[in-house]
Amino acid sequence: MGKRIYNFNAGPAALPLPVLERIQAEFLDYKGSGMSVTELSHRSKWFDDIINEAVERTKRLLNLDDQFDVLFIQGGASLQFCMVPMNLALEGRPVGYLNTGSWSTKAIKEARVQGKEVHVIASSEDKDFSYIPKGFKVDPNIAYLHFTSNNTIKGTQWAKFPEAGNVPLISDMSSDIMSRPFDVKPFGLVYAGAQKNIGPSGTALAILRKDMLDRVPDGLPSMLKYSTYAEKNSLYNTPSCFVVYTIGLVLQWLEETIGGLENMERINKEKAGILYDYIDRSDFYRGTAERESRSLMNVTFRLSSEELEARFVAEALKQDLGGLKGHRSVGGCRASVYNAMGIDGVKALVDFMKAFENKEG
Ligand SMILES: *Cc1c(COP(=O)(O)O)cnc(C)c1O
Repeated sequence: MGKRIYNFNAGPAALPLPVLERIQAEFLDYKGSGMSVTELSHRSKWFDDIINEAVERTKRLLNLDDQFDVLFIQGGASLQFCMVPMNLALEGRPVGYLNTGSWSTKAIKEARVQGKEVHVIASSEDKDFSYIPKGFKVDPNIAYLHFTSNNTIKGTQWAKFPEAGNVPLISDMSSDIMSRPFDVKPFGLVYAGAQKNIGPSGTALAILRKDMLDRVPDGLPSMLKYSTYAEKNSLYNTPSCFVVYTIGLVLQWLEETIGGLENMERINKEKAGILYDYIDRSDFYRGTAERESRSLMNVTFRLSSEELEARFVAEALKQDLGGLKGHRSVGGCRASVYNAMGIDGVKALVDFMKAFENKEG
């Protein structure tokens, strides 16, 4: 096997090594079928078991009752930006959005493009999206309230979710799904592109409260309707079989090796804590998110110049610490410490940060 680095990529991102090893071990002959999982029919018993197991594990990990459907939809999180207003807006009523960064902004754009009346209930754009807004009032007439639970690019996260009374919450949880437990009851829909925390890219996991299906307008194209996925167990057409299979293995790792989302959250807090503690003690590195809004998943920071930042990223990679460059739209540095990043990787990064500071500071 070639060497493996500590992978701090924002997405596609690191997957748990035991999951990758399991994929490798059963890649040529899936469970005695004589076929690879990439060669199996999606109508076979083997794949039925794969998708059903991924659904059941999602339900167990998030404590979902029968009110919720678990769906796999191609097109990633970005297609959900379009499907949400298309399916879940209500005639004659506005839709509500909280704008906390580039992904929220894109979600808003897709609602406006469809001619929906968008109410931006709160925004942190005034301070370059460096914080999570609070103290706003939610108009009870909006059809739903959409927010991005973790802002992958700016490194902020909703520690406590917004409250909207009877208005269903909808959340893009692409970059923190399965990183912590949460109460799903106030949500009409949760969706997540798989490639940050739970699998390879190309598919969104969607958790849809069944009453939301009543909103789906007649006359939408089949592939753009939530009801198509709900009625056919995400098997209306050929799903991303390999992605669903890998998600199932990651969820198995979460249940059986990590021991559930309470444990995962504890580990994630410890990891982010090690990094933020060090950044706070140093004058050399400067965190970009306000303290109480900081993300446990994406730790964003700056050095004193872009030239120094470029050197930091390049020298880190020589020490097998990869993916530390910030998003191209904002620059700076970012360490993404999703579920699959171990505490050992975070400690190795802090050791490198100290050494770099000693050398350059
Ligand atoms: C990565 C990301 C997306 C985009 O996901 P795609 O699968 O590429 O469409 C959307 N929202 C958030 C919060 C993300 O982190």
